[in-house]
Amino acid sequence: MDIRAQVSMVFHLDKCIGCHTCSIACKNIWTDRPGAEYMWWNNVETKPGTGFPHRWEDQERYKGGWKLTGSKSLQLKSQSKLSGLLKLFYNPNQPGLEDYYEPWTYEYENLFDAPEGDDQPTARPVSQITGEEMKIEAGPNWDDDLSGSPLYAANDVNYDGLTPEERQQLFEIQRVAFMYLPRICNHCANPSCVASCPSGALYKRGEDGIVLINQDVCRGWRACVSACPYKKIYYNWVTGKSEKCILCYPRLETGQAPACFHSCVGRIRYLGVLLYDADRIETAMKTADPLLVEAQRDVICDPNDENVIASARANGISDEFLEAARKSPVYKYVVKWKLALPLHIEYRTMPMLFYVPPLLPVMGKDGDQPYDHADQTMFSSLDKARLSIKYMARLFSAGNEAVVTAALRKLMAVRYYKRMQDVGDVDDDNVRRIMREAGTTPEEAEEIYSLTAIPTVHKRYVLPPLQREEAISSLCDVQDCKGSCGYIKQAGAGRA
Ligand code: SF4
Ligand code: SF4
Repeated sequence: MDIRAQVSMVFHLDKCIGCHTCSIACKNIWTDRPGAEYMWWNNVETKPGTGFPHRWEDQERYKGGWKLTGSKSLQLKSQSKLSGLLKLFYNPNQPGLEDYYEPWTYEYENLFDAPEGDDQPTARPVSQITGEEMKIEAGPNWDDDLSGSPLYAANDVNYDGLTPEERQQLFEIQRVAFMYLPRICNHCANPSCVASCPSGALYKRGEDGIVLINQDVCRGWRACVSACPYKKIYYNWVTGKSEKCILCYPRLETGQAPACFHSCVGRIRYLGVLLYDADRIETAMKTADPLLVEAQRDVICDPNDENVIASARANGISDEFLEAARKSPVYKYVVKWKLALPLHIEYRTMPMLFYVPPLLPVMGKDGDQPYDHADQTMFSSLDKARLSIKYMARLFSAGNEAVVTAALRKLMAVRYYKRMQDVGDVDDDNVRRIMREAGTTPEEAEEIYSLTAIPTVHKRYVLPPLQREEAISSLCDVQDCKGSCGYIKQAGAGRA
C-alpha cells in the first residue's frame, strides 16, 4: 500500500447555469497576459457540442491519453520512446489557432478619440496577435446553448457510438436538450502530460497531487499539449513555455478555495481530500473500459480504515490532512454515494475531478407534457430520456450505461423523497419503493439533499492545511518553548 493524498473536486452539473463567471474569475487572475489571451484554464462548454478547443475529444486526431497495448501495458497514445524524439521537431497532433480561436480585443480608444462626425464612433475588433482589424468567427464558447445545431451539436464526438435513428432523435426540436460542462485540469493521478514531457518540467506535487509545470525547466516542446486528452495545457506564444491550471495553489495555501470555486454562482463545486493507493493505479487503469469507473473507485481508500491511516502516516501525510479526508465532500459523492463520475475515464489518466451527471436534460419527456414525471413510471422515463443515457455514458462511464443509470436513479429518488416531504403530491409507498430500487435510504437521501441543496461554504470546501499551517506545526512544541523565549498561546494547525 502506498497511500497518497489528493485535493480533488466534484462539479454538480444539475446546478450549473452556464454563466461563465468561473471562466472570467480564472482569466482575470491567471491568463490576462501577453501570450495567454486565448487560454481558458477554466472553460464552460455546452453539451452536445464540439467544445474548446474544437472537437477536443477526438483522440483519433489528437492522440491524447493512454492506450492499452496488445501485451496489456499502458502506453502514451501520442508517442513511443522513438517517436517522442522525432516529434520534438514535428508534431501534427496538436490543436492549431483555428481549433482554439484568434483572440481579439476592441478599439475602445476610438470611442473617445474619434474625430467629430455624423456617425456614432464604434470599437472595431482587432486581433490580439497581429494587431490588425479582424472578423470574429470563433470564440471559446462559440457553440453556447446551440444544442441541435447542425454545425456544432451534430459534430459532437460523443455521438459516434449512436445509431442514425438515435442521432436523429436528438435533433427533433421538441426533444432538444443541453447541459453545461465546466472544465479545468483534472489533476489526474495517472497524468499522461507528466509522462510525456521530455524535459521533466511537469510534476505532480507530493503533498496535494496538484499537477504543475516548472516554468524554469519547460523548453516549450509541447509534447504535453498532445498528451493531455482534455487539452488543458496551453502553449504561451510569447514566453515559449507551456502553461496550465494550477488549482490556485497560492490561494489554497492561504486557506482560500480556487478562484473558479469561490466565484461559482451555481455553487456547483466541491473540494476535498481523497486518499488513494498509488500501488493500484496501473492495474486499475488497465481494466477493460466498462469496468474502469469501478476500478478507479477501488483505488480510492476509506479515510477511516486503520491500515490506510497507518500507511498514510508512514508516507508523511499529516493528521490534519487525514482529518480533512474524513470530512471530504468529494469522498461522499464519489465513493459513498457513487453519484459523481469521472469525465472520459477511457483516456486512462485517472482524472481526480468528478461530475454528478445532470438529471434535468434526461427527464422531461415521458407523457404528452414536457415535464410529466409520474412517480409510477419514473424509472421508465430514463429509457425515453431527451439526452440519451448512451450519450451520458460516453461522457461519464466509458460507455457503461448501468453506472450512469444508477447515479441518475439515486438522484431521482432523492428528489421524489423531498417532494413527498415538502409538496406531498406523491404517494409515500411509491416513493419508498423508488428509494429501495435506487439503493438509497431516507437517512442517505437527507444527507445527499443537505450537501447538494443547502451546504455552507465550509461543507463544500474542506480545505486541508497546506504549507503555512504545516510550517507552524513543524516548529517546536509550544510547551517546549515555555519559559525559554516567552510563552505565546499559539493555535494549532488546522482550518475550520
Ligand atoms: S487533465 Fe491535467 S493532469 Fe490530466 S493529463 Fe491533462 S493537464 Fe495533465
Ligand atoms: S460559475 Fe458555476 S454556475 Fe456559472 S458557469 Fe461556472 S460552474 Fe457553472
